[in-house]
Amino acid sequence: MANDADLRHLRRCVELAAEALEAGDEPFGSVLVAADGAVLFEDHNHVAGGDHTRHPEFEIARWAAAHLTPEERAAATVYTSGEHCPMCAAAHGWVGLGRIVYASSSGQLTAWLTDLGVPAPPVRALPIQEVIPGAVVEGPFPVLAERVHELHRRFHGS
Ligand SMILES: [Zn+2]
Repeated sequence: MANDADLRHLRRCVELAAEALEAGDEPFGSVLVAADGAVLFEDHNHVAGGDHTRHPEFEIARWAAAHLTPEERAAATVYTSGEHCPMCAAAHGWVGLGRIVYASSSGQLTAWLTDLGVPAPPVRALPIQEVIPGAVVEGPFPVLAERVHELHRRFHGS
């Protein structure tokens, strides 16, 4: 169950997504939090330069593999403005990170982008559990998801 700390970290993810938008990038943001509640790492999308693998959840997985023990990774939580794409879910699974809490789902994003007339991406959106069968996942959270929706509307100019 999500608690006040979960919602605080999710709000930070939405702020990071807004920062990405202000920087001309796609609005996605994520935060890695240790078992004791310490924020370890945060990032937003950096795909505007042309490398479409520069997602924050992928950066988190790499940072965690380099800096945390397997036990610390398993006990950590990844918060994110939008549910992991299959690439990031796979990275999350391979490095053995723990719980995932997202503000908006991949299903919501797909519906929003379709409504906005955005062409389908080259990688299919899948629920995290289809990529990581044992994942512990919470989301979406309607109020925060609506804020993420607004950021995507602004990114796509409507
Ligand atoms: Zn991704």
